Amino acid sequence: MTGVSTGAIDPVPPEDEPEIARIGAFNHVSPSGKGVDVRRTMVLRKGALLIVAVTVAMAPAACAAPADQGAATSGWVDQQAPGFYRLRLGDFRITVLSDGTAPRDLPMIMSKPDDVRAAFEASHEALPTELSINCFLVDTGAQKILVDTGAGELFGATSGKLVDNLRAAGYRPEDVDTILLTHIHGDHSGGLSIGGKAVFPNARVYVDKDDPDYWLSSAAEAGAPADRKMTFVQSRQTLDPYIQADRLRTFDGETELFPGIRTVPEPGHTPGLTGYLVESRGERMLLWGDIVHAAEVQFRDPSITVEYDVDPAQAVASRMRMLGDAPKQGYLVGGAHLSFPGLGHVRAEQNGFSWVPAPYIGHP
Ligand SMILES: [Zn+2]
Ligand SMILES: [Zn+2]
Repeated sequence: MTGVSTGAIDPVPPEDEPEIARIGAFNHVSPSGKGVDVRRTMVLRKGALLIVAVTVAMAPAACAAPADQGAATSGWVDQQAPGFYRLRLGDFRITVLSDGTAPRDLPMIMSKPDDVRAAFEASHEALPTELSINCFLVDTGAQKILVDTGAGELFGATSGKLVDNLRAAGYRPEDVDTILLTHIHGDHSGGLSIGGKAVFPNARVYVDKDDPDYWLSSAAEAGAPADRKMTFVQSRQTLDPYIQADRLRTFDGETELFPGIRTVPEPGHTPGLTGYLVESRGERMLLWGDIVHAAEVQFRDPSITVEYDVDPAQAVASRMRMLGDAPKQGYLVGGAHLSFPGLGHVRAEQNGFSWVPAPYIGHP
């Protein structure tokens, strides 16, 4: 851009110069693109001086405020911005909703702990890591479908933020008419109920029948290892209000549940783990639940398992199949534990796969 430097026209305090220069560069190019609208620049500068004057006039009052009020208005609070991220998929409006994160020392709970530790070191990531817990609201226009419900009150204060973030995104729990569980596990079905009461008063809950057949079965509970017993108890507690109200529905394997929503069986991590393939106007997105817990290692080496896997060998087979399919199909993936908002694509590599996070878009 040629033209007059705004700083040279009008004396301003040195600290104002960068801001004036920025305004000049973006707002004051004349229609011809060759000059600077000096008049508008000067008007803006007067405005800027007025703001300075008002700030100075208010300063004594701010100084006189009690110390605790001062703390309340300081810049830092120990929380992030509301955790939601919006995107469009054809005619559907998708909102990724964060339930928060859960600290996990992954080498302690994954196979090949040395490889896991080395991968985190190479990624400059501290351990324990904070695993994202992501849920997805699919607003089809006809239905408001929530995929997974987060941990509710089961995992402590770092999670259980789904409802706050749902409200921040402009929806209410009573707006949700359909809940699709990728599987029954505390961090996916735990948010269904708080204190024994249903959080989503109008929703029907859908899950592959193999999960309630396992997690709601006293015979399966009796035969399960000790470290899995708590999940049986929590599953009954959080699903029960929906069972009592006759609002639990099951499906069997691969099926089209609703227009634009197909189930994709991915058993192993739990018997009924299900991905949901969402499609509108030819655009597709797979919400795959717990196919990957740690992007740092499981794309490159899908054989690495986590101790929550009910059938580790079957979990590896499902992960291999899903990771192999994703690059061929080219669909967008939404992962429950991939760093929020957990959206991206899978790329096939010479050895294994890699995760390509989707770019942030500020105007959904
Ligand atoms: Zn799980
Ligand atoms: Zn999970």
